[in-house]
Amino acid sequence: MSPRGGGERGKPRRAAGAPKPEKLCSACGRPFQWRRKWAACWEQVKYCSDRCRARGAG
Ligand SMILES: [Zn+2]
Repeated sequence: MSPRGGGERGKPRRAAGAPKPEKLCSACGRPFQWRRKWAACWEQVKYCSDRCRARGAG
């Protein structure tokens, strides 16, 4: 446990106002959500998973 910042209590932890970006997978066509591992290369991500990327349809 590491308390951060100053003494505001009772703040809801769930970020309601921060929707994560979505994309459509180029292989399976399904929408997928931003993931932390893509933080650096989100603009280049085209597939929802490594599987789809290996498939590489399109
Ligand atoms: Zn996919």
